[in-house]
Order: sequence, then C-alpha cells, then structure tokens
Amino acid sequence: MIKSLIRKVFRLQDGTEATVLSFAKHGIRRDAISPGARKVCDALTEAGFEAYVVGGAVRDLMLGVQPKDYDVATNATPDQVHKQIRRSRLIGRRFKLVHAMFGDETVEVSTFRAETPSETDEHGRVLRDNIFGTRAQDAARRDFTINALYYDPTKEQVLDYHRGAADLKAKIVRIIGDPEARYREDPVRMLRAVRFAAKLGFQIDQKTREPIDRLGPLIENVPAARLFDEMQKLLLSGHAHACVHRLREEGLHRGMMPLLDVILEQPLGERFVNLALQQTDDRIRTDKGVSPAFLLAALLWHEVLAAWKSREEEGERTIPSMMAAMDEVLDIQTEKLAIPRRFTTTMREIWVLQPRLENRTGKRAMLVLEHPRFRAAYDFLALRAASGEAQQDLVDWWTKFQIANDAERGALLATTRASGEKPRRRRRRKPVRDSDERREAPAGDESGSGR
Ligand code: ATP
Ligand code: MG
Repeated sequence: MIKSLIRKVFRLQDGTEATVLSFAKHGIRRDAISPGARKVCDALTEAGFEAYVVGGAVRDLMLGVQPKDYDVATNATPDQVHKQIRRSRLIGRRFKLVHAMFGDETVEVSTFRAETPSETDEHGRVLRDNIFGTRAQDAARRDFTINALYYDPTKEQVLDYHRGAADLKAKIVRIIGDPEARYREDPVRMLRAVRFAAKLGFQIDQKTREPIDRLGPLIENVPAARLFDEMQKLLLSGHAHACVHRLREEGLHRGMMPLLDVILEQPLGERFVNLALQQTDDRIRTDKGVSPAFLLAALLWHEVLAAWKSREEEGERTIPSMMAAMDEVLDIQTEKLAIPRRFTTTMREIWVLQPRLENRTGKRAMLVLEHPRFRAAYDFLALRAASGEAQQDLVDWWTKFQIANDAERGALLATTRASGEKPRRRRRRKPVRDSDERREAPAGDESGSGR
C-alpha cells in the first residue's frame, strides 16, 4: 500500500501519469471553449480518437482569461484529422499539423509528439522533433507546467502531468524537466518564460530562471525568422511594456533588439519607447488594431534619429541622410531579427514622412496628407511630441489641417508662411543621383509653395 503510494507520487512527479482534475478543480465548462475547438474534439472523439484542448487556452481559461486561440492535441495522425474535418488543411513540412477552419476561427490540431533528442546542433538545439508519441510524451515535451494541461470537453476533465494546476495557483512559470537541457534544445523557451511571466503577472521559478543569464546568448543561434515570430507574439501580447522591461532585466533583449539597449539609456528615447509600448498595449486591450510596423518603427526611431542627425551635421542633405540612416539601422537590426520586408517598407515610409511633416508649405502639405501612410506618420509624430522630441504645435496644426475645408486649409498654410517656414530649397544636384533619393525626395517644387 505504501509502496503503491510512493510509486504513485513518484510517477506523478516524473510526468508519466496524470492527475485528473474534475470541474470543481478547474472550473471549465464545455461551453466555455470556442465552437471550433469543441467541434474538432467532438469529431475526433466520435471517430474513436482522443482529443484535448491544450496549451495556452486551458491555462487562460483556468485563470479566467479569454484565450487568444485554441490548440487541440490528439492521437489521430494529421491525415486522419484531415479526413474527419471537412474544412481543414495540412500545414508544415517538417512536422505536419492540421488547421481546422470554422468561419473566422482556426484551430491548430497536432498529433501527440515525442521528442527525439538525437538530431541537434552543436549547442544541443533540437533540429528534428517529428516523431509521434504518447499523451504523456507529448506533455513532457511542452515548455512549462502551466502549458501542459489537457482539457477533455467530453468528460469536462483536465489531465495534469506536471503539476501545472498547482503552479497556476501559485503564479509560477516553471519549465518541465531540466531547465538547462530544455533551453539548449530550444533557446526560444527563455523568451517564452519571460513573456508568460509578464503577461500573466507570474514569477519565474528560481531554477527555471537561474540558467537564463548564462544561456541567453544561445538565442543568437535561433533562425532570425523564428525569432521574429516570437518577438511579434511578445509585442502584440497586450503586455509589451512589461515584456520588454522584463527581457531587459533578464538580459535577453540583446539577442533580439541589439539597438534597444542604447535607446533605453537615452532619456528621450526611453520615454518614447515606453509611450509606444504602452499605447500598443492599450490598443490591444481595447480591441483596436495595432500595426507591428508602427511599433517596430517606434522602437528603432531614436537610432534612426541619431544616425540621421549626425549625417546632417556632416553636411549631408536632409532626405539623403535620412535614407542612409534608415539603411544603417535596419541593416544592424535585421541581422538578428529578420523583420519581413512588408514591415520594413512601412517603417521606412513612416520615418521618411517625419521630416516631410515638418515642411508644410503649399503643395507639400497636401501631398503628405494624401500619402497612404499619412495617418500612421501623423500618429507617430503625435507620439514624438508626447515624449518631448517634436513640437506639439506641429501635431495640432496637422490635426486641424486633416479635417479642414479648402478655405480653412488656406488659412492654416498662411500661418506656416507667416511663421517663416520655408520650403526646403533644392540645391543644384550632382549629375548622378542615387535612386532612393530620387524616389523619396519630397515632391512638389518651389513654384507650388504659394509665395
Ligand atoms: P499564447 O497565449 O501566446 O498563445 P500558448 O501557450 O498557447 O500561449 P503557443 O505558442 O500558442 O503558446 O503554443 C501552444 C503550446 O505549444 C504551448 O502552450 C506549449 O504547450 C507548446 N509549445 C509552444 N512552443 C513551445 C516550445 N518552444 N517548446 C515546447 N513547447 C512549446
Ligand atoms: Mg496559443
């Protein structure tokens, strides 16, 4: 009897057997899960398979937080899942997953997986993990105890392999298994630990936290595109401000945003970045859209500004020095974090519109107003003013100008002339111009300035 008790306790701790939590312990009614997740689980169970809601959704529901999306884990193979769910598609090359679509909702369905530590890089990073496994193996390869809870909607039960429920209660982020080994397998887990701690307001367990300082540099071996995905999750978590500051405390920001360190040390830069992060969090919490490009443009702005101004001081003209500054900053940054082109294009547009917003004479103001990125650039200017780096008067002027009729616009333009704002003068150019410069040079000419 004692032996079996010891065995039971021992098994519970090594994660080979789950504790079954009833509704009284987890509080998740079947109706609380999304219709899509319910349909996937029902279809698979009716076909004789096992299917559970897993990961963040169970964690969030137990905490009374609205889940962002739903993941389902099953013992059915991807092909079997695909056969059972009409609107679904197989995705992934290395490890196949199924995306099940129900209107706006996409449920990600994965087959129980076992880790195969055989294929790793020289630091121990797992390069292959595409072997199907048992439910217990699937639980053991998950990152944190609070992410390894399996909800069975049919029985309204939660299966807990790694004491995740206790950690949820104690508000602890605890990695499953040996922390160092798990970070070596996948260094992104260090970033995830910080993200969950910041998002949920949890502490990182001491043993989980301890190796981070030492192993942080392993993040540099993670492919830049994967890092960008994780960074995006972090910045769009609704807790970007807390996440970035926590990353910095753990020394983890270096691998992702090499320039952030410098920026946060300048008072104006720090103010601006904090405002941008807070604004993003507020927008996410109130269900307003956010643009990752806008936030990334804000995070790097003070670097662009410094490089731009130093070139201007050396005698380069405004727009060419801005173009060169943008290239310089993006080159350093994208080496670590592959910011996709669709974002860097928008970032450049927002940046390059900043000096153009300061030049409000005649046609120029109208051209800026008609620019597809005007609204983002204007919001960006407002943020700059709020941090004390740009003039609030300028923001107020654009606030009025946007909604003004023709007569009012004329009057507003007269005020910029009266205050002596001059159109940037075109100097005589060298015969060969760089193509970027030509593309981005402010449109309009002096004859349109209304003088
Ligand atoms: P979020 O609320 O951000 O969606 P999440 O926990 O659902 O949080 P996902 O990135 O959606 O995070 O991953 C789903 C689940 O897959 C996780 O809960 C975890 O169990 C597992 N998982 C994700 N990434 C890893 C990883 N790098 N190592 C181990 N397990 C992981
Ligand atoms: Mg998720």
